[in-house]
Amino acid sequence: FTHFDIDKTLKSLGLKDINEGTSTGSHNFSGKELLESYSPVDGQLIGKVAITTQEDYDKVMNAASKAFKTWRTVPAPKRGDIIRQLGDKLREKKEALGTLVSYEMGKSLQEGLGEVQEMIDICDFAVGLSRQLHGFTMHSERPGHRMYEQYHPLGVVGIISAFNFPVAVWAWNTALAWVCGDVCIWKPSEKTPLCGVACQNIVTEVLSNNNLPEGISNLINGDYKVGEFITKDNRIPLISATGSTRMGKIVAQEVAARLGKSLLELGGNNAIIVTPDADIKMTVVGAVFGAVGTAGQRCTSTRRLIIHEDIYEKVKAAIVDAYKQLRIGNPLDETNHVGPLIDKDAVKMYQNALKQVVEEGGNIVVEGGVFSGESYKSGCYVKPAIAEAKPAFKIVQHETFAPILYLLKYSGSVDNAIDIQNNVAQGLSSAIMTNNLREAELFLSVQGSDCGIANVNIGTSGAEIGGAFGGEKDTGGGRESGSDAWKVYMRRQTNTINYTTEVPLAQGIKFDL
Ligand code: NAD
Repeated sequence: FTHFDIDKTLKSLGLKDINEGTSTGSHNFSGKELLESYSPVDGQLIGKVAITTQEDYDKVMNAASKAFKTWRTVPAPKRGDIIRQLGDKLREKKEALGTLVSYEMGKSLQEGLGEVQEMIDICDFAVGLSRQLHGFTMHSERPGHRMYEQYHPLGVVGIISAFNFPVAVWAWNTALAWVCGDVCIWKPSEKTPLCGVACQNIVTEVLSNNNLPEGISNLINGDYKVGEFITKDNRIPLISATGSTRMGKIVAQEVAARLGKSLLELGGNNAIIVTPDADIKMTVVGAVFGAVGTAGQRCTSTRRLIIHEDIYEKVKAAIVDAYKQLRIGNPLDETNHVGPLIDKDAVKMYQNALKQVVEEGGNIVVEGGVFSGESYKSGCYVKPAIAEAKPAFKIVQHETFAPILYLLKYSGSVDNAIDIQNNVAQGLSSAIMTNNLREAELFLSVQGSDCGIANVNIGTSGAEIGGAFGGEKDTGGGRESGSDAWKVYMRRQTNTINYTTEVPLAQGIKFDL
């Protein structure tokens, strides 16, 4: 991988001022404060973007409000056609955007391309959805009356996203919000601002080809202070925020204080239960990919393996053995399995967690460590580690965003494993490995997993866009992507039409004049 390739990638995504000046996508503000983006792959400065000021934000908000008036009158299937074109453009740019995701965020190229594929898939989903934004009709209690409900767009939707899915989360929200008739203002993570600019450039081209106002898609850049522009703005009826539980608790309060709606997609502490009836080979594949994929920086990463005592040693040996085969290094080199963490702060958190698990009485079975040397000069490459621990350890209760897997032992029936699994603050993804129908069904039943995602014989990591995505408890309760998640982007209206010459009142009330 050479810098020539990076230049080519950046150019093809319209990020041409790189290393020379600033780039904020199509909103070319001359903000003086700059946000620098360094690659965790090689530590190089990739580019800078201008941080959005209050003045810039006011312009963005005006453009968005104005664009909404046009966009809401475009029939939904026509809006769907614009999203179809966006999907086509993403297909064209898949390689470049996937490469940028990998280079700016550090996930493997395969995962970077996979993330862009998710964007394409959600566009396809949204195109179909644009003809299915339907409400119910119901029978009125009054003669000669018709009652039905319909969904209207909300207005301006604010999107706050995390660094680990720097492009897909935007598409999950926008593709749906746009077919629903909303316009969007996006604040990407300050750790991956160029991915934000690249997406904005792609959609701007589609909007301009269709003579549509650019304000349908808006980008603002900066840290939490810029995020606050949208969370505190009562012109924004919905804030969709993806990130840590800490952030979600603050954002939820800000938005609730002005009676706005929030859609929260927050941290996870995902477990796989491995019962005596599990297929060990399948378990190893699911657990290892779940724990080390994206260097453990997925909200659905596997953090805990809850293994029955009868097969504990066997499963442990198989997983430890699989870890020996892991190759850690430049994520753009497809022979590597694991890339770097996002930055040096993340490395510190990883080191602290490994220290803490030992202090709490845990036993390290696969040693961690930070790589050094020419190939790892960003200082962000770490060894995926495994520790034997107890469910009650504080560190096991906590989401450490790094490749650390905790092995926990259970005895007796699967209920005990389900208790351990549910006994954490987070409730995102969960899985059971078993060929026992009773165990699998119990896990999926009301007495089973309390998570938003519960899988049988596949791991916790990743999700298909067709299903609603999100989790309970400290994960925030929001749902995005497939199924009927679109409803959160619309306002519901109940309509009653009287086609008689009388005005009968509901509940038989008489009001003679
Ligand atoms: P983070 O909470 O540090 O930042 C996320 C975003 O929130 C950033 O854009 C940040 O600038 C913004 N932000 C932070 N404080 C804010 C405030 N007070 N007001 C407005 N905006 C604010 O998270 P991160 O480190 O980027 O991402 C990792 C976390 O995200 C993990 O906990 C992970 O589990 C979670 N995550 C969850 C999902 C999901 O769908 N459930 C998906 C991806 C990531």
